[in-house]
Amino acid sequence: MDQLSPMLRLPEQPKTFGFFVDGQWRQGSDHFERVSPGHGVPVSRTSRCTVEDLNAAVAAARAAFENGSWSDLSGAERAGVLLRVAEILKRRRDEVAYWETLENGKPISQALGEIDHCIACFETAAGAARALHGDSFNNLGKNLFGMVLREPIGVVGLITPWNFPFLILCERVPFILASGCTLVVKPSEVTSVTTLLLAEILVEAGLPRGVYNVVTGSGRTIGQAITEHPDIDMVSFTGSTAVGRACVHAAADSNFKKLGLELGGKNPIIVFADADLEAAADAAAFGISFNTGQCCVSSSRLIVEAKVAQQFEELLASKMKKIVVGDPLDPATQVGAITTEAQNRTILDYIEKGKSAGARVLVGGSKMEHDGGQYIQPTLFTGVRRDMEIATDEIFGPVLSSFSFETVDEAVQLANDTVYGLAASLWTSDVSKALSVTRRVRAGRFWVNTIMAGGPEMPLGGFKQSGWGREAGIYGVEEYTQIKSVHVDIGKRQPWIV
Ligand code: NAD
Repeated sequence: MDQLSPMLRLPEQPKTFGFFVDGQWRQGSDHFERVSPGHGVPVSRTSRCTVEDLNAAVAAARAAFENGSWSDLSGAERAGVLLRVAEILKRRRDEVAYWETLENGKPISQALGEIDHCIACFETAAGAARALHGDSFNNLGKNLFGMVLREPIGVVGLITPWNFPFLILCERVPFILASGCTLVVKPSEVTSVTTLLLAEILVEAGLPRGVYNVVTGSGRTIGQAITEHPDIDMVSFTGSTAVGRACVHAAADSNFKKLGLELGGKNPIIVFADADLEAAADAAAFGISFNTGQCCVSSSRLIVEAKVAQQFEELLASKMKKIVVGDPLDPATQVGAITTEAQNRTILDYIEKGKSAGARVLVGGSKMEHDGGQYIQPTLFTGVRRDMEIATDEIFGPVLSSFSFETVDEAVQLANDTVYGLAASLWTSDVSKALSVTRRVRAGRFWVNTIMAGGPEMPLGGFKQSGWGREAGIYGVEEYTQIKSVHVDIGKRQPWIV
C-alpha cells in the first residue's frame, strides 16, 4: 500500500481519454464526464462515440480476424502475449485499481484484490490457449475418419456493466483472445477508463492491431448497434436481464449472432442449524455487502432454519453493524459508495417498499452522508413475505431479506423460488445434506460452507433467467469457438453410379 499512497488522492482535474480503433487512439467530438460516486468530484472524460466509430471498429476487428495476424497464431504464441499482459498488469496494478475505485466507488483494497484476480485470468487463459483442442473419431468404419475442429467464432462484441468494470472485462477478454477471436468492446459509459487502459497494456504486450478495439458510448446507441450489427459473429453481454432480453431480440432480427448472456440474480444463502453459525453469519454479512451489494452473485436472500433463525439474525445484525462504510480511497474501508445516482435511488426506494410492505429493519435501512458521495448502510430485513418486492426483485444493493424454513424440502423450494439461477451458498456440517441440496438448487455457481470463492479456472454463468453460456476457464474459451466436423474418406469410394 506504501507505493500506492501518492495515488490515494483525487485528481486535480478530470483526465480525458480517447477511444481505441485499429491500434490507434481517436478522440470523440462529444464526451461523458464521470463524477466519482464516493466524492462527488469529476474525475474522467471519455468519448461519446457514434455508430460510425463503431462501424470502423467492427471493420478493423473483421480485417484483423481475416488477415490471420491473431487467429492463425499457435496457442503457444497467443499464450506468450497473454502472459506478457499478466506481467504488465502486475506493474500497473495500483494505477488500474485507482481508476476502478475513482469511477466505480469500490474500496481501493477490494479493487487491488480484483486486479490480482484479473492477472490470474490472463495466466489461466494463456494455459487454456495451449490446451485448446478438437477431437477425433476412429470408430466410423474402415474407410472413414472423423475430426472435430474448434475454430474461433470470429468478431466478438463485448458489452460490460459498471459494477466490476475491469474484473468482468478480464473474465472474458483473455479467454476470447485465447480462442483466436478479435473484439470490439463497449464498457459501461460510467466506468470506461480501465477498459481503455487495457488497450495500452495489450499493445505493449504485442497484440496485433485491430484485434482489441474499444468504443465508448451509451447503451442505447453503441450497445444496441453492437447487438444489431450484421458483421459481429457473437456478443457477450453482461448486465441486466431486461437488456439481455433486448439483445436476444436484436440478434434474432439481425444475423442470428451467438449470444453469451450473464444477467441478474437473487441468490440464496441457506443456513442449516448444524452449520458453524459464526462463520455463516460472517459470510452472509460479506455476501450482501461486498461491492455494496452491486454484485450479480450477492447473496440477497437469507434462508435460515427456523430453530436458529432469531439467534442467527441477531448474530448477523451485530456483525453488519461493524462493517466499515466510507471513503473508497481509504485503505481501511470495507464498503464504498453506490456507483450511480440512479442505482442509489433504486436501492433507497426498495428499502422504503420493504418497510411499507411490513418487513422489519434489523440493521441499516438508510443512506449515510459522507464526503459528498452516495452511501447506504448494509441493511437486513426480517419478517419478509415471499410476495414482497424486496423478496423477488434483484435490488442490486446492500439489502438482505431473511426467510426461515422447517424442512430441507422447504429450504430447497425457497431457494428456487425466483426467476433467476445465478449463484447459491449453503452452510451445514452434514456432507450428505450439502450434496443433496447442491443437486436440487438451480444455480450456475454453488458455494458450500464458503461464499464467492473460486478462481478463473472455474466456469461462470447462470441457470434460468440469469443467462446463457459460460465464461472463464477452458469452458470460457470453448464458448468462443465453433465446431466443424471433418470427414475424411481413407478408402476407395463405393460408386453411387454403376
Ligand atoms: P445494464 O443492463 O443497464 O447495462 C449493461 C451494459 O449494457 C452497459 O454497457 C450498457 O451501456 C449496455 N446497454 C444498455 N442498454 C443497452 C441496449 N439496449 N443494448 C445493448 N447494450 C445496452 O446493466 P448495469 O446497470 O450496467 O449492471 C447491472 C446489471 O448487471 C444487474 O442486473 C446485474 O445483475 C447484472 N450483472 C450480471 C453479472 C453476471 O455475471 N451475471 C455481472 C455483473 C452485472
